[in-house]
Amino acid sequence: MTQRRFDSVSAAKTWSRRPESRSGDRDLLPRIFGEDTFGIREMQARLPDNVFKQLVRTIEHGEELDPGIADTVAAAMKDWALSRGATHYTHWFQPLTGSTAEKHDSFLKVGRDGRAITDFGGDELVQGEPDASSFPSGGLRATFEARGYTAWDPTSPAFILGGETATFLCIPTAFSSWAGESLDAKIPLLRSMDALDRVTRRALKIFGVDAGRVTANLGPEQEFFLVDREFYYRRPDLMTSGRTLFGAKPPRGQELDDHYFGSIHERVLAYIQSVEMDLYRLGVPMKTRHNEVAPGQYEMAPVYENANVASDHQQLMMRILERNARRYGLVCLLHEKPFRGINGSGKHVNWSFGTSDRNLMDPGDTPHDNLIFLFFCTAVMSAVEKHQDLLLACVSTAGNDHRLGANEAPPSIISVFLGDQLQDIFQQLEESGGAEEREREGLLGLGVTVLPDLPRHSGDRNRTSPFAFTGNKFEFRAVGSASSISLPATVLNTIVAESIDEWSDVLEAVVESGVSLETALWKLLSNEIPSFKRIIFNGDNYAPEWVEEAERRGLLNTGNTVTALPALAAHKNEELFDKYGVMSPRELEARLEVLTEQYFIKINIEGETAAHMARCMILPAAVTYLERLAAARSGTKGVAPTSGLDSNIARVSGLIDELTEALDELDTQNEELGGDEVAEKVFHMRDNVIPAMNAVRDVADRMEKVIPDDLWPMPGYRDILFVK
Ligand code: ADP
Ligand code: MG
Repeated sequence: MTQRRFDSVSAAKTWSRRPESRSGDRDLLPRIFGEDTFGIREMQARLPDNVFKQLVRTIEHGEELDPGIADTVAAAMKDWALSRGATHYTHWFQPLTGSTAEKHDSFLKVGRDGRAITDFGGDELVQGEPDASSFPSGGLRATFEARGYTAWDPTSPAFILGGETATFLCIPTAFSSWAGESLDAKIPLLRSMDALDRVTRRALKIFGVDAGRVTANLGPEQEFFLVDREFYYRRPDLMTSGRTLFGAKPPRGQELDDHYFGSIHERVLAYIQSVEMDLYRLGVPMKTRHNEVAPGQYEMAPVYENANVASDHQQLMMRILERNARRYGLVCLLHEKPFRGINGSGKHVNWSFGTSDRNLMDPGDTPHDNLIFLFFCTAVMSAVEKHQDLLLACVSTAGNDHRLGANEAPPSIISVFLGDQLQDIFQQLEESGGAEEREREGLLGLGVTVLPDLPRHSGDRNRTSPFAFTGNKFEFRAVGSASSISLPATVLNTIVAESIDEWSDVLEAVVESGVSLETALWKLLSNEIPSFKRIIFNGDNYAPEWVEEAERRGLLNTGNTVTALPALAAHKNEELFDKYGVMSPRELEARLEVLTEQYFIKINIEGETAAHMARCMILPAAVTYLERLAAARSGTKGVAPTSGLDSNIARVSGLIDELTEALDELDTQNEELGGDEVAEKVFHMRDNVIPAMNAVRDVADRMEKVIPDDLWPMPGYRDILFVK
């Protein structure tokens, strides 16, 4: 059997079923949920009552924590962690790379008498100082002032990772520089949640509601691909870049549409179930799982939680997805576009905000007279219109460029989908300064007596919109599958806080002048709607006509990361983040610098990997094939007519010439960096390296279609996507 066919077979064989575990344990889910976290249940059991109550006030109402309780909490946390088998602890944080970082310390302490005890004090819980000089800081922390501090975030529960091998306690922390500037994703997110809380409560007061803490909520839907480990290790591109840099279109792609919501293959299901079980133990409320559109593509989503915890949990989810895949002989690809010509992966971030008993994005049964909803919902739309640039910047990465602005939508144009009912209300508001109920929800008769009548939703779905209102939340769909959701959430919270704040000023002034609240609101909305209504688009965002229409409307279309990112440090945005205390101009510039650098590094790695694979794997395969053809021709001289061989020889040597030429160009571009500053280099990457890479790929993919299977040096799409 040839090497390549052998791969496929051994790939499918690397997984074996684990013993059946259908034990009929009725309490399984409630029992294991959160058992690997130091959550409310454990705290209550292990902490003195007054300390527990204080912690809860901080967790639930955002009250300041008395540092005096740290020792008590640390001791209880340590006891709990030891009882769960932990030997080490780590401050767990989210540096600007978008992933997570940890540095383990053991609980061990050796006394003078040489005997070991375990030790963990309040100081170690509350603050850490990882030697953090190598984390990207975007210039916020030159190496000579390399100190960085981690600070305990009591609002996100500590948890245990490990199990089968090492077990250690993770303490969610924020990460800042010596001068108190945020070097992570968490601090700005928490600050933006505070800003939204502040302005929303103020606005609610105008409506006569004295509200408790307002939180932003996130429910992220994660898409990913699974490929067999066997294939992964035979593809340097997957290993270095997380995506294939070569690969001819297989005879069967996703055309049959038979994967979406199809029944989940047993091996995949076993894996997904193991991910869910581990996440349940970590207190992540996993809810849905299904096959996605592309072969080998899946989606999982938890129930939404407050933005800070949801974002920590999202990181955990990505980590467990990657970790557990290996246990089933699989590799989980979180990249936005692992395969050309096959759907990419996104992360739909469902977002809303409200108090503990009122979701402010919920229109209720009669949205036309739900003043509070209309106020907040329009404030969101206005914010989105005003800050399209930020929304695009915060989702732009080298990987996501393959979705946004490429042949796959949503494009790099932000628009809002409202659905018919809301659309109608906003139209009325604009035209007549008021709204009354017109579109009835009604029941959806299915015409079969045994089937129930279904309540009709106020709006149909629009799967193509980058920012869709879906019933009682907005769904930000432009976020990339590999991204942290913290920055997008930070941006959303902040831009909406600004709208609410500005509109509150107006509303308050008008109401104070003696106008009724209702009249004041109608007036405000009918004034404001014309200024942002161009952002509303209920049609097909994937259609080429939309790009033209959006241009006519003057909407922003960034096209790629290099164009999109600088908005992060635009003057209007510096003022915005500064005003709401979310990020200083320096903190913003740091993010811009780090994200720009990441773009450069990613494309640089791809360029060099592509050159290596083409020169050291693909070209030799083509040459071997040419030799084989040439040998066949000389071996068959005088035996058979050779015109077929001749034309094949001509074709293959032509491809070799083409590949060599494209490859030389790629080498040249790889050597050139395009400048000294990273801000210059990214232009070189976008304008020269990527096209040179594509040119090499173009020839290589044609070669894959003519070179014999046994010579082709890596598994192709046909194997990778379909062997399960
Ligand atoms: P759909 O399939 O319509 O997109 P789902 O009900 O499956 O929506 O929810 C998708 C995600 O949105 C889930 O994580 C869910 O918990 C979350 N979600 C639901 N309601 C809200 C809300 N009010 N705020 C934030 N997220 C929400
Ligand atoms: Mg959804």
